[in-house]
Amino acid sequence: MTTLTQHYQQLPACFYSVVENDLNIKSDIYLFNDSLAEEMQFNVSPPESLIESLMAQDHRPIAQAYAGHQFGNFNMLGDGRAMLLGEYQSPNMQMFDVHLKGSGRTEFSRGGDGKATLSAMLREYIYSEAMAGLGIPTTRSLAVLTTGEKISRQQEEQGAVLIRLAKSHLRVGTFEYAVAFQNIEAVTALMDFSIQRHYPHIEMNEKRAYNFLKAVINKQAKLISEWLRVGFIHGVMNTDNMTISGETIDFGPCAFMNKYDPQTCFSSIDRDQRYAFSAQQSMAKWNLCRLTECLLPLLDSEEPQAIAIAQQLIREFDEQFEQCWQVMMHQKLGFDKIDDNVKPLIEDLLALMFHHKLDYHNTFYALTYDAEQIELAPLTQWLEDWAGLLTSQGVDKQTAQELMKTVNPVVIPRNHLVEQMIHEAVELNEQSNLQQLLLDLKTPYTKKVSPLSYFDIPANHDETHQTFCGT
Ligand code: AMP
Ligand code: MG
Repeated sequence: MTTLTQHYQQLPACFYSVVENDLNIKSDIYLFNDSLAEEMQFNVSPPESLIESLMAQDHRPIAQAYAGHQFGNFNMLGDGRAMLLGEYQSPNMQMFDVHLKGSGRTEFSRGGDGKATLSAMLREYIYSEAMAGLGIPTTRSLAVLTTGEKISRQQEEQGAVLIRLAKSHLRVGTFEYAVAFQNIEAVTALMDFSIQRHYPHIEMNEKRAYNFLKAVINKQAKLISEWLRVGFIHGVMNTDNMTISGETIDFGPCAFMNKYDPQTCFSSIDRDQRYAFSAQQSMAKWNLCRLTECLLPLLDSEEPQAIAIAQQLIREFDEQFEQCWQVMMHQKLGFDKIDDNVKPLIEDLLALMFHHKLDYHNTFYALTYDAEQIELAPLTQWLEDWAGLLTSQGVDKQTAQELMKTVNPVVIPRNHLVEQMIHEAVELNEQSNLQQLLLDLKTPYTKKVSPLSYFDIPANHDETHQTFCGT
């Protein structure tokens, strides 16, 4: 049996609620992540018995308490359709939460049924594994299980459960919960627990709140620039969907940008485009302001001093994000260090891509691989400027392209493909294209012969495409 630990329960009991009702999940494995199971050295096979063993622990699962700002409004939330089975220590001594999503009602379910649809869980599986393949910090998906239940949404849908692994499920919203509904002792306990779990290098002295915030801010600045590198739009960056570990979490209405437009926003519920592609760094900063506010009393006992420290920390987010973004964009064009002469070249390229509605992914792919099938006519002058700058920097194009190959993917999960694969899987019980997509997404920086095309986007797809929160 794979025994899971219960370190989270070292926190005060206000941070969780024990799930007493029977799991009672009659489940068939629909997707199983063999390579992740192997990486984790889950020494149980076949997959059915691994899953059985993960679910059959001697202790009860728990639902974690958290609150959050959803589209700017504060709400009490908590695991309403998920639960923590326990933690697992991987072969490289990293601790992972083993989570079930869609596993039924908990104390935090409010009016919801605690269930999840097969299509929503497949979506999370595809996007989280795509992010992992792209080398971007993310929660992982070990398996999708169908429950055989029909669950009621806009129409009846098949029920499913996702087994998710995450470095933890500590969220900005967990701190907001502790501040709003508990006391300073609870906030301090949560911070100390978070430090031990994610930032053990931080010394446990009176400066630890400052160092902790600095570490989280650093991780998020890097994470958001990584999203922008590949054109990822999270879609619902509420504070409850922002981790303390710096992993991407909760793949609801997320999508990848096709044609370059900073305002791209596909989510049907994001009417004000709060979480549009290029708003993501400012929304991350907004969320980090909420986290910093939570820890104000721990930054300094005098409020004015605490506020001054907080403001300086938040300014650091801007500086760090700008630094990460510049390094990332320089690399996308083959420059391995930041150079003031390259900055206008980046700006010009983005302006041209926007003006000519060029595909973000295809454009960088064409630059990286000299792919002639991709139309770059609007960039003729820019291409000359780029070549000239590479020469004047003493970088030969081949060396530049070797660097570019490590940051400009060949494969991203194109939105229309994801929708098609989910449709085929859910409506037709046909998995072959989905399996192909998942295989290609494992090595997204390698050119490949695949029956799936990652370069052609159906006409007007972006104009009509909408994503949903998918509960
Ligand atoms: P999410 O959109 O997944 O970030 O969820 C936001 C909040 O709604 C969380 O507290 C979830 O637990 C809760 N929630 C979402 N779907 C359901 C559901 N079907 N039943 C109960 N709670 C839900
Ligand atoms: Mg969430």
